[in-house]
Amino acid sequence: MQIRKGNSTLGDVEENLAGIKQTVAEACSRAGRREDEVHIIAVTKYVSMETAERAIEAGISHLGENRIEGALDKWEKLQDKASFHFIGQLQSKKAKKIIGKYEYIHSLDRMSLAEELEKRLEDGNKVKCFVQVNVSGEASKAGLDAAEVIPFIQRLEGFSAIEVVGLMTMAPYEEEPEKTRGLFRELRELRDRVRALGQPNAPCEELSMGMSNDYAIAIEEGATYIRLGTSLVGNETNA
Ligand SMILES: *Cc1c(COP(=O)(O)O)cnc(C)c1O
Repeated sequence: MQIRKGNSTLGDVEENLAGIKQTVAEACSRAGRREDEVHIIAVTKYVSMETAERAIEAGISHLGENRIEGALDKWEKLQDKASFHFIGQLQSKKAKKIIGKYEYIHSLDRMSLAEELEKRLEDGNKVKCFVQVNVSGEASKAGLDAAEVIPFIQRLEGFSAIEVVGLMTMAPYEEEPEKTRGLFRELRELRDRVRALGQPNAPCEELSMGMSNDYAIAIEEGATYIRLGTSLVGNETNA
């Protein structure tokens, strides 16, 4: 894995991506899944515009950002070249800045945010949302408790602008990623229960889980979107 100070080169990103695709392929084969079920989101929060562009040149078509500031710059410049995913905590009053721009929000975790999205989206426009779940129950992690997820999604039934496409979680960092397996499995089981509700605006087919350290395990447990920062585009904040 290439992690250098300064902007990553196209060669760095291509090399990283080739290694990641190999790992994805191996995890899929262990789990009897198809590789095209797994979408790679390049998380560009720690890197420059240039490096985000390198990721697109290397073949990435999904970009993820977690702060409004970086999120807007990158969207302005690269909107035609990738789908945009907002993956960070989203304050309701700031949500309007990305509404209509970001196709996906991975951090829907409360009714006030849902109401804000519903109010601001007009003309039949929709936003694809992942409901964020704090499966580990760590106090420091965002998201709904697992037990709150189904009642929350049921309350969204009449929200015409919100499409619950899936569930998202962040596992705690573990030296041994194998330890995260149980959390990913719980999220998958919860996803299956939401899907079984058959609620029209909550098809809930996707699982956004797995980061640089644990994506192989997440894929074995059913991830359909993995969110990769450091291992794919590096971290330029110490440059
Ligand atoms: C930063 C971030 C990632 C990527 O983290 P890496 O460990 O660098 O791959 C993924 N998901 C979320 C929500 C993040 O904030």
